[in-house]
Amino acid sequence: MPGETIKSMVPITFLYKNRVGQALETYIGGLKEKKILGIRCPECEKVYVPPRTVCGCCHKKLDLYVEVDQRGTLENFTVAHVTIEGGEIKDAPEPYVIGMIKLEGADSLLSAVVKGLPPEKVKMGAKVKAVWKEPTENNYGDLAYFEIV
Ligand SMILES: [Zn+2]
Repeated sequence: MPGETIKSMVPITFLYKNRVGQALETYIGGLKEKKILGIRCPECEKVYVPPRTVCGCCHKKLDLYVEVDQRGTLENFTVAHVTIEGGEIKDAPEPYVIGMIKLEGADSLLSAVVKGLPPEKVKMGAKVKAVWKEPTENNYGDLAYFEIV
């Protein structure tokens, strides 16, 4: 039905404790220092954020890390109504925005929570900047969210 929000409840719980791999470990190490690291392809010069080990275009192995800007553009977004806590899906206290962000100097999109405006006022093309957890903890959550500027 148009306008109706469909919620999916998925009753599965997984608890993983494994290495994320060299590229993401380097990325998370950068987040601890409040830096956003990408990786540049030596062939096509695309910069991927977060870093990956192989170029999606020319299949070159990647190992050249570069710092990208902490500002970017909201290319697309969705309004989320649930959160995942400890592997469990729960209703969010209020709807929030999950955006696809193109950082200055990057060629790929980074998914992150976006704050600063109510979801109904958020528009594609908005400029955003990174907001950090204080203090950082050497994990993916150190890049807390992006704020609309
Ligand atoms: Zn490439």
